[in-house]
Amino acid sequence: MAVLPQVNSTRMQRKEITVTTQFVPPQWAFDFHGHRCPFMPIGYRMGMLAMEKLGVQREQDHGFFVFPELGEGHPQTCMIDGIQVATGATYGKVLIEKTFFGKLAATFYHPDREAVRFALKPTFVDALGKHEFFAYRKRGLEPSQIPATTTNDPHSMGGRPKR
Ligand SMILES: [Zn+2]
Repeated sequence: MAVLPQVNSTRMQRKEITVTTQFVPPQWAFDFHGHRCPFMPIGYRMGMLAMEKLGVQREQDHGFFVFPELGEGHPQTCMIDGIQVATGATYGKVLIEKTFFGKLAATFYHPDREAVRFALKPTFVDALGKHEFFAYRKRGLEPSQIPATTTNDPHSMGGRPKR
């Protein structure tokens, strides 16, 4: 089952991408993750959408499982921190396990409900790749070294609340 997420509405304005969402990560998610990048917030949105679709709350104990499909070398693995923040399905509680399928996708499974899989649309990934954040990354800068004018861009790095 492949369910494409209604994660983002994107709009290109030169190098700018606007992400509007009802799911903006809390500040503690950025503190936990350690830097500002686009993929932690994307994982957060994916997790929130999965919980909404399944009709479940953030997992407090041990009843909700996530199987991210990202590979070992994917630069987008930051998504997994956002997924953990949103869902409460954490590595510490042994509720999340990578499949290494090499996809920008994850399956969310609740035994009392069903499973739902979300994947990023290639068109979205291509558009996001034009953001100047990735130009800095290609030059070898770590996300924490990228100027705040880029990483604090709420329109793309953390998403802008949907009105
Ligand atoms: Zn990151």
